[in-house]
Parts: sequence; structure tokens; C-alpha cells
Amino acid sequence: MFGIRTPNRAVYKSSYWKIIDPIDRAHVLLVAEGVKPMAYTNFTNLGSIQEYLINELHIIITEARGRTVWLSPKRNSLHFPVRVYTIAKSPKIFTQLQVLWSTRGKKRYQDFEGRLLGYPVCCRKEYSNPTYRKKFSPWILLNFRKPFTFMLEYIIRLMDGESIPSEYNYLMPSQTPCSISCKKSLKLLDRWKRILQKYDHEALASLQEYNQHCKEKKYKAIAQALKKKGVTTKHFKKGFIFTK
Ligand SMILES: [Zn+2]
Repeated sequence: MFGIRTPNRAVYKSSYWKIIDPIDRAHVLLVAEGVKPMAYTNFTNLGSIQEYLINELHIIITEARGRTVWLSPKRNSLHFPVRVYTIAKSPKIFTQLQVLWSTRGKKRYQDFEGRLLGYPVCCRKEYSNPTYRKKFSPWILLNFRKPFTFMLEYIIRLMDGESIPSEYNYLMPSQTPCSISCKKSLKLLDRWKRILQKYDHEALASLQEYNQHCKEKKYKAIAQALKKKGVTTKHFKKGFIFTK
């Protein structure tokens, strides 16, 4: 895809590989296979195997503390820096990464970063200019602290007993599709899934576990709580006006 050099796939079976957290492995593997331009990993300290991965997988690994690595706990003002590795497939992407680091303006930064992470343009647009206010009733939005289209559509489907595409079990932790029916995301996720299935089952299973724990379970609980309050999916419709 990016004029890539084929990675040495024996790496994926090595004991070095197994010391990497499976979600980090999913990121590194997709970059090495040339289907994701760039990725961040932050569960594993890659220091001791960095050279090995660079040489065998033909990737670039750089340690950086970007904007996204400062976690701010609610209760106090302390910040904890997290070690983040940035993985890029080619020198060209690495150059673009340096352009990213000097990009000013939150929206431009997010859009560029999303592009480097391989996310579709429609999803990046929705992320930086959300449209949920135009799509859903103001009353329903009051029930959410941080609403966004994908989550609201996901919850509507759950409440209506409709199925959720299984591809969303394989979303990357930082990935937010523009809509539950985003064709580009579904295609991309299917591609990533096939590659992980082929080379690293455990990494794929970890992604699935992550999504089930952090999205599916959470959204199911919200859908149930709303139902308990007597909310139905007609209350989500833009024209709905709450009257007692
Ligand atoms: Zn999209």
C-alpha cells in the first residue's frame, strides 16, 4: 500500500513478539503489513526489542510524549506522563509525523493525526465537526455527558433489538466511526481483522475483548437504563419535544 518492504513474518511467532501486549501487537502488525500508516502503542515498553522490530519488520519506531499522553485525573491537578511509542511504516510517513507535531489548531491536528492513523475521511470530519445536534432531539442529548453519533446510533440499535455489525468488535482504542453504518469503517475493519486473523489470533482476540468491555457492555447498560426510565427510540428523533 505504501510501497512497503515485506516484514519478516517469523517475528509474529517469536518469543520477543509475545512479550508485547496483544493490543500493541495489533497496532505494530497492521503498520508492518502496510495497512495502517501509523500507530501508537503504550502498554509495552518496547525499548529492549526496538532494534529487532525495526530491522525485521522494516518499520520506524520513535518514543514520544505527544499531546495525547498526558492523563489528567479528575481529583487533582497532577499529570502522569505515559511512555508512548509511535510506529510508522516508511520514512515518508515519519516525515509527515514531524509535520503533525508542528501542526497548530486542535481540529487540524486531529484531522491530520486521524489520517496518519488510517481513519476514513468521513469519520475524521465527524470527529472534528460533530453533527449529533442536527440528528437527535435536544432532550435525549441531555441524558449523555459526552454524546457522539456513533454511540447514539449504537444505543438506538440495541434498544430496537437490531444487530450491531461484528466489525465493530475490532475498533482501535482511539477510533470512532462517523456512524454505525459507515461503509468505509466496515471495510477497513474487515481488512484489519483478516490480517490479524492470519498472523496473530491473540492480538485479534484482545481487540475484541477490549471493544466488548469498553463499548458493547457500556452501551448495553446505557440502553437498559434508558429503557427503565421509559425512554424509547422515538425520543431520539430530532423533532421529539418533551412534554409532561
Ligand atoms: Zn465514516
